[in-house]
Amino acid sequence: MEVIQVTRASMPPFEEYCEEIREMWDSCWLTNMGIKHQQLQEKLAAYLDAPHMDLLTNGHLSLELSLQALELEGEVITTPFTFASTTQAIVRAGLTPVFCDVDPVTLTMDPGKIEALITSRTCAIVPVHVYGNFCDVEAIGEIARRYGLKVLYDAAHVFGVRYKGRGPGAYGDVACFSFHATKVFHTLEGGGACFQDAAFGQKLARMKNFGISGPEMVTDVGGNAKLDEFRAAMGLCNLRHVEDEIAQRGRVEAYYRQRLEGIPGLGLKADQPGLRPNHTYFPVLFEETVFGVGRDQVWEALAGQGVMARKYFYPLTSAFPCYQGRFDPENTPVARKASRQVLCLPLYKELTEEAVDRICSMILNCPK
Ligand SMILES: *Cc1c(COP(=O)(O)O)cnc(C)c1O
Repeated sequence: MEVIQVTRASMPPFEEYCEEIREMWDSCWLTNMGIKHQQLQEKLAAYLDAPHMDLLTNGHLSLELSLQALELEGEVITTPFTFASTTQAIVRAGLTPVFCDVDPVTLTMDPGKIEALITSRTCAIVPVHVYGNFCDVEAIGEIARRYGLKVLYDAAHVFGVRYKGRGPGAYGDVACFSFHATKVFHTLEGGGACFQDAAFGQKLARMKNFGISGPEMVTDVGGNAKLDEFRAAMGLCNLRHVEDEIAQRGRVEAYYRQRLEGIPGLGLKADQPGLRPNHTYFPVLFEETVFGVGRDQVWEALAGQGVMARKYFYPLTSAFPCYQGRFDPENTPVARKASRQVLCLPLYKELTEEAVDRICSMILNCPK
């Protein structure tokens, strides 16, 4: 049985990567913000429309160390409809997550529900762009300004997206990205933070390098989250191909849409006005009472035939056993419902029209 995974890492041409790393055999400079790191940082800041950017070891530490570098205390309004990383970063940074429900269409934080959650202890908002959908950045920015709150976006899903002509690095005090192998752009493992304030950047740079601020001088309780030169080199190669990667994924998404659009009980991603998509995920919401079978049955039927779809995001982070008794997932009913209905179908640029056909037939013929 041919197994179809939910995603496949994009690989640059082998020779191109070899060429990119060749000079390291002369310089022997392998990490600690070398030349590849600098080049990638500059190119990514421009691509993402960020005034400043720094690279880190992964997306998770970009979130965790950015929250620490903002020097926050108290409560953070965030969303439970996300990957584990967002909530874990907040808690590990010593902050208390307060979960806001999501919009039923974009599945990003519902700005209409933020203000009711603000208390005297609230210090920041941590929204998550989801599946390439953009948060309502205008409404969130306006609330943050009014209440004097910081905004840090988990922007792991919007690499390559443009909203009203600007990249995702232009929004929020900080926007954190993941360059993990499974993302639309990757450095094997890797991540980065885009930010507006240069002083924040100096603090973040210390936080990722043991708190070191100069020779014989350590001023912060930092860790180690540096991106090495081999990973930065992978990023330089992949960045040259990322527009093609996005276009090819768009082709695969179009196959899915041809077969699944308009089927009663299937909720597909809606186009967002002003948004250039990155085709990074293809989530389908299964309305069991209308479609006849639920998400879990479809997942099982696909898995039984070697198709590895993913219940992403499920469960809500507020329902994790490590937080048992601390949060009530019932407080975010829209997110809860979406987490029970959603299934991300396989999507990568080599996926053929025939394979998409097969996957869609399995879904449409799923035993009731
Ligand atoms: C991938 C991802 C992360 C974590 O990034 P890593 O680079 O794997 O640490 C965080 N948040 C979201 C929404 C993600 O998709």
